[in-house]
Amino acid sequence: MHDSHNVLLSKFPELKSGWVWLCGAGPGDLGLLTLHAFNALKQAEIVVYDALVSNEILELATNAKLVYAGKRGGKPSAKQRDISLQLVDFARKGKKVLRLKGGDPFVFGRGGEEAQTLVQHGIPIRIIPGISAGIGGLAYAGIPVTHRDVNQSVTFVTGHDQSGATPSSVDWEGIARGSQVIVIYMGMRHISQITERLIAAGRSLSEPVAFVTSATLEAQKVFESTLGEAVLDAKKLKIKPPAIICVGRSVLMRQVLDWQSLELGKIPRNMDPLNRGRPAESA
Ligand code: SAH
Repeated sequence: MHDSHNVLLSKFPELKSGWVWLCGAGPGDLGLLTLHAFNALKQAEIVVYDALVSNEILELATNAKLVYAGKRGGKPSAKQRDISLQLVDFARKGKKVLRLKGGDPFVFGRGGEEAQTLVQHGIPIRIIPGISAGIGGLAYAGIPVTHRDVNQSVTFVTGHDQSGATPSSVDWEGIARGSQVIVIYMGMRHISQITERLIAAGRSLSEPVAFVTSATLEAQKVFESTLGEAVLDAKKLKIKPPAIICVGRSVLMRQVLDWQSLELGKIPRNMDPLNRGRPAESA
């Protein structure tokens, strides 16, 4: 490693034997890794990682044994309790353990459960937040998750629960009424039920929807649709997970803020997509 990197990392905490650091790896792009995560990857002896952590990031763990604990919707996966107990085991063996998760470990990542099990077993932990796909992934698509002219709140919601069903505990009607912008994680499998319920609760068929797949990665794709067309489009365009779905007028901002297209020399589709008719910064 370059000297200046070593100087930088020397200011960061030491991952001690017998500790587990629960860490977010961000949505995919290497550059969205935090310095704490980088520091952890450099010191770890064991890295227990999830399906959504990219190889590029794992390659930074040059001294670690990599253990896959992937859980992807619909596929056979390690049991949550087994993963937590495996972490306890590694820690008790005196290893320097890094538990690496996609995005942020406390956002739909069961990081809270794993951390709780570790604490219950007397294992010392540190939590390293990461950039969550529902914020960073949308930013890479040119969608601001809040915008003064669109929303004063945002709802992050999961499209399925542990059993794979649409979570019965999600109050879609309440969300439809109360949240101008809805960001859905793990929403592809139940997209038809989700859109149906939002429409039934009064959201407009023409309301903008964006699907951002493999957000922040080379393979990132963004599909724009509407609540009424989303199910058909998802099928027709063969939209594949992992996808973050955004429902709300903030999707329109992409017409001016799709910075990846601007970078390629394209011009904005619409300089004033929310029809404010005045400069963006006027009071
Ligand atoms: N802890 C993660 C979320 C885990 S749940 C985070 O904070 O981002 C897994 C879901 O996250 C996926 O089904 C998908 O909806 C979303 N997701 C994670 N990474 C993604 C990416 N790079 N592109 C699109 N969606 C992503």
